[in-house]
Amino acid sequence: MKTGSAWASALSQLDEAAAAMQLDPGVHEVLRNPRRALEVSVPTRMDDGTVTVFKGYRVHHNTSRGPSKGGIRYHPAVTLEEVKALAMWMTWKCAVVGIPFGGAKGGVVVEPRELSMGELQRMTRRYTSEILPFIGPERDIPAPDLGTNEQVMAWIMDTYSTREGFSVPGVVTGKPLAIGGSAGRNQATARGVMYITLATLKHRGRAIEDTRVVVQGYGNVGGGTVELLHEQGCRIVGVSDVKGGVYNPDGLTPEALRQHQADTGGLQGLEGAQDVTNEELLELDCDLLIPAAIEGQLTRLNADRVNASIIVEAANGPTEPEADEIFAQRGIAVVPDILANAGGVTVSYFEWVQDIQAYSWSEDEVNDRLRKIMEQSYVDVLAMGESRGVKMRTAATMLGVGRVAEAHATRGLYP
Ligand code: GLU
Repeated sequence: MKTGSAWASALSQLDEAAAAMQLDPGVHEVLRNPRRALEVSVPTRMDDGTVTVFKGYRVHHNTSRGPSKGGIRYHPAVTLEEVKALAMWMTWKCAVVGIPFGGAKGGVVVEPRELSMGELQRMTRRYTSEILPFIGPERDIPAPDLGTNEQVMAWIMDTYSTREGFSVPGVVTGKPLAIGGSAGRNQATARGVMYITLATLKHRGRAIEDTRVVVQGYGNVGGGTVELLHEQGCRIVGVSDVKGGVYNPDGLTPEALRQHQADTGGLQGLEGAQDVTNEELLELDCDLLIPAAIEGQLTRLNADRVNASIIVEAANGPTEPEADEIFAQRGIAVVPDILANAGGVTVSYFEWVQDIQAYSWSEDEVNDRLRKIMEQSYVDVLAMGESRGVKMRTAATMLGVGRVAEAHATRGLYP
């Protein structure tokens, strides 16, 4: 259970990196604040004829290295502070993997599963229309996040394009292939998590086949990670979705999980497996824990009971700073979100490049380029950590902040 806010975590991580790298106090202060934040009302005609007004946000944290980039989240717990934190993490993430973007994030306070397709489409189009001055292929490029998908991206692209009077595929990434999406984008975050996991296991001298994995979350990222790591030979012993999880020390197969979810709408009750709560799942006996759901899952309240020796953060912000401290003391390696889950935005960058050039790459080419970037970024973060004697999260943040600070200093402060 969350004990602090995502924004407090993001600030504390930045402050720790800033102290370790002796960041200029002026630049530090600039980076502690989002560049701009927009709050909008999204009046939506519901199917019964009534009007519901949803609240939405779009935050640009930093644009020193290029247009801002980041997903749009549809979730009932969205707040401005959460969106600010997620936007800040996008800034560091893009810089860590060296793609020419700043950081942004958007969100609407809504439970998308309670809306009909028509309501979801009308709400998405009106939200897009409200944030229109904020977005554009050279300005800020949204993408999917929790609660949004490629269909939502298609509506955003269409709304923007209709207002411009011509097709603008580069305004959004994570689109369907038919309108300028990229091969490999849908699985890109999970694939990036897989590359980083393999690099981590290799670095730590662990055999893939002897690695027992628990994954929290079974959406686009968690589900994809389960499939890819199972394919690589890891033993998946625990998996959960929002409703709860399942555990089988002998191993779970992606086929059985998928089939059971299709049949019952959840994971619990899977034959041969034991039901566990989402809290219990994080404390299961395993070697590798992959939180792939939401922020604030690993806290000072449960960090002592985590059994894994490696944590790879597929979600954004799953570990609170106090838990990070406990893991460091306990010798548990945490591979941070801004490195581990950067595969999604990396392939978003490829999609944007392809859109702008009106050209398309094969899936093999996309995956190969992704692998090279993820492996290089892993090495860069490791080198930073070793040379400065800091944990991986601080190293990754230092790397990201350093690149942003360099761009900022080179451009100079306006006016
Ligand atoms: N929402 C994803 C993330 O948190 C992807 C963002 C993007 O592709 O712009 O990294």
